[in-house]
Amino acid sequence: MARVLICDPVDQTALEAMRSAGHEVVEKTGMTPEELLETAPQFDAMVVRSATKVRKPVLEAAARGNLKLIVRGGVGLDNIDTDVAAELGITVNNTPAASSVAVAELAMAHMLACSRFLGPANLTMKRGEWNKKAYGKGKELFGSTLGLIGFGRISCEVGKMAGGFGMKVIFFDPYIDDAADAQKVDLDTLLRQSDFISLHIPHNKETHYLLDAPQFGMMKDGVVIVNCARGGTINESALLEAIDSGKVFAAGVDVFEEEPPADNPLVMNERVVVTPHIGAGTAAAGKRVGGEVAKKIIAFFE
Ligand code: NAD
Repeated sequence: MARVLICDPVDQTALEAMRSAGHEVVEKTGMTPEELLETAPQFDAMVVRSATKVRKPVLEAAARGNLKLIVRGGVGLDNIDTDVAAELGITVNNTPAASSVAVAELAMAHMLACSRFLGPANLTMKRGEWNKKAYGKGKELFGSTLGLIGFGRISCEVGKMAGGFGMKVIFFDPYIDDAADAQKVDLDTLLRQSDFISLHIPHNKETHYLLDAPQFGMMKDGVVIVNCARGGTINESALLEAIDSGKVFAAGVDVFEEEPPADNPLVMNERVVVTPHIGAGTAAAGKRVGGEVAKKIIAFFE
């Protein structure tokens, strides 16, 4: 039997599954870093989503105690010092595939919202305005080219959905060979040919500001940009300039260089549809993530 500490909210069915398998599960969400430092060593496993930061001091204290496993419900491991965990012999797992469809659907939602002015049309109608003319020159997804940057789990789902909308799908991903239903191209070609560009890459040294002023300069006039991946992959100032110059028609943004964004002009721009990092935020994805978390904990201690 293992003692499992739940640091961020996880679907209740997951907690029930772990308890049925004989584990002691304690929910302590919203802990301060000091509380986490004190609590973590008393447990064999920790479950986190994106909110709890598991940095070196916590890991060192936890390794001196009982901690053997951290499971991150979700994809990115940026909130855990994975190198330190590995050095200390603490296993780190995540649930990479559980939320792919949810993020892909949000990317499609952003493409549609950008194309048809859904953000400002909704906002101004609620203020009593009827701006039929202003929002009457939208774009169609049908017949346009979608450029996917990164062609992993989420991007593949977006590609399938985009096919259903009648889009031609091309992708740039140096680590993926040709795909059956999308054409592999280099980044310059993708930038030049795409009517819509959606990012689905991790944020690291290689991908930092992958889209910056020179890349915006290469794009078609009137391109739509969607980022449901990670803040920092696009230079937000360069994106704003490209919107102001008319190069970029509109952008859909779920992730920001700073989260939550403080006084970010991108958020206030009429041409930018924003959501507060909710890519994985569906009930179905929450259940799938919870199910995967429980499976990983149970299997580890079996
Ligand atoms: P994945 O690992 O399956 O796919 C990422 C792809 O990016 C890989 O195929 C990889 O080869 C490619 N890649 C890496 N470096 C690249 C580069 N320099 N240029 C082009 N391609 C490159 O990951 P995924 O599950 O599809 O997730 C994609 C992104 O979405 C991640 O950043 C993840 O953190 C993010 N995400 C966001 C949310 C949200 O709430 N908005 C939720 C889940 C995941």
